[in-house]
Amino acid sequence: MATKLLLTFAICRLIVTVGLTLEPTELLRLGLTVDPVDVESASVDFGLMTKVEPLAVIRPSSAEDVAQLVKAAYESSHRFTVSARGHGHSINGQAQTATGVVVQMSGVGSGGKPRVWGGDMYVDVWGGELWIDVLKSCLEYGLAPKSWTDYLYLSVGGTLSNAGISGQAFHHGPQISNVHELDVVTGKGELMTCSKEQNPELFHAVLGGLGQFGIITRARISLEPAPQRVRWIRVLYSNFSAFTEDQEYLISLHGNQKFDYVEGFVIVDEGLINNWRSSFFSPRNPVKISSLGSNNNGGVLYCLEITKNYHESMAETIDQEIEALLKKLNFIPTSVFTTDLPYVDFLDRVHKAELKLRSKGMWEVPHPWLNLLVPKSKIADFDRGVFKGILGNKTSGPILIYPMNKNKWDDKSSVVTPDEDVFYLVAFLRSALDNGEETQSLEYLTNQNRQILKFCDVDGIKVKQYLPHYKTQSEWKEHFGSKWDRFERMKMKFDPRHILASGQNIFNPTFLSSSNMASW
Ligand code: FAD
Repeated sequence: MATKLLLTFAICRLIVTVGLTLEPTELLRLGLTVDPVDVESASVDFGLMTKVEPLAVIRPSSAEDVAQLVKAAYESSHRFTVSARGHGHSINGQAQTATGVVVQMSGVGSGGKPRVWGGDMYVDVWGGELWIDVLKSCLEYGLAPKSWTDYLYLSVGGTLSNAGISGQAFHHGPQISNVHELDVVTGKGELMTCSKEQNPELFHAVLGGLGQFGIITRARISLEPAPQRVRWIRVLYSNFSAFTEDQEYLISLHGNQKFDYVEGFVIVDEGLINNWRSSFFSPRNPVKISSLGSNNNGGVLYCLEITKNYHESMAETIDQEIEALLKKLNFIPTSVFTTDLPYVDFLDRVHKAELKLRSKGMWEVPHPWLNLLVPKSKIADFDRGVFKGILGNKTSGPILIYPMNKNKWDDKSSVVTPDEDVFYLVAFLRSALDNGEETQSLEYLTNQNRQILKFCDVDGIKVKQYLPHYKTQSEWKEHFGSKWDRFERMKMKFDPRHILASGQNIFNPTFLSSSNMASW
């Protein structure tokens, strides 16, 4: 009874504060909640570095619900913002808003189950669907999406708003290159279907568009026959150029005679061997860094991570195929670590690590992550200045490094990448701990991120941030470079009142300077 009264009061307050034209019963039907638990969960994200409470949270059950809310925001006399939230795995408050409503896209009861079209090899999914659930639904038909992220508890709308990359991207392109069609609610509250043929401006703007042009309510994602098993191999290098030459060689291969996934990571301290990405080495595969020649190399080792997918009927030939590919590489001969597992277990590998970290209380901690796309021509300079320089021999988390082919990225999408045919993702996926060790503190790691960015600037390494985070529009303009004008034009066209995804800090909501805000 008390809860119902509180909700009714909150709804009436919201209607008056933001000038909503919707009736209280409509808001209730849209799943509006001001329950402190819901508001609290929408006010934080995986980064745990910013906390911003929305006025309310809506749990839509259909695209029409989303459209109704955004239209109400667009038409409201006082105006308010609307931020879609997938699984809240951003780092810097990108899905948060203090001046409006969070649309909680992921979660029970939203949008309906993925619909697999086996004959056409695609699946239609709700924008808030988690990739793990997309995978499970597709596997029922022996199919699977082609391009992944390393972790599957992310929403489709959330990764498509960035790019969605993993070790398959060199061949299949990022996830945004594997989408046929989208349903999008624009900032005017219009529900539009778009593709390369239909409303192409909206389609390309939304992919990698950081939530600026619309809320993705449905995505049609390309599928392939699902492999059954995966041979997962790690080999080590002490020589950086041998490592990157091999990675670049592997991503240049086409056809069947290639690996299906190419990633890698940097090992600057032995502690990393036991971290969430590297449990693979032990206990069955114990490895001592110092025994592998890293001492001659500033204590740094590089691990190439590759996989070959296969069907059980191919089990007899897979060893020879892998052998032939490995023969062309220049890793440390005694450093081959192999495991074999079902495809789904490989794709879901980070979740296992998550469960372990959760049990130790080390998952819900601040994550000052930094993801950079580094041009191939400068990756050796980056190694010298950052891995062997700025980092010292402590890292506080995995550092991924792998190359991708630019020709697999559609330049019409909103995402920006370095201006070279091949560029690397370098991902500093670090966790800050409050354990008294200075090198693990949030302040230390944040400062180190600044140093890395400054080094790139001073050394002329033209990096682009992936999952970008900036505070001023001039920084955003620089980030988007020649794409900025189009980005701004698309914003004017599809979200002219700057209602959507204000947590990205790209465009200020147009009403923010008005006196209406005083009461918020
Ligand atoms: P949220 O944090 O909820 O939202 C992110 C942004 O997208 C916000 O601006 C939000 O408003 C907007 N948004 C959300 N849903 C929609 C929608 N339906 N329509 C329009 N806009 C929307 N990324 C990779 O590419 N590869 C990886 O391997 C990878 N691994 C990761 C591992 C972990 C453990 C974590 C925490 C993140 C990882 N990421 C990776 C980053 C991840 O892809 C992004 O943070 C992504 O935005 C998270 O999705 P989400 O659903 O949690 O988005």
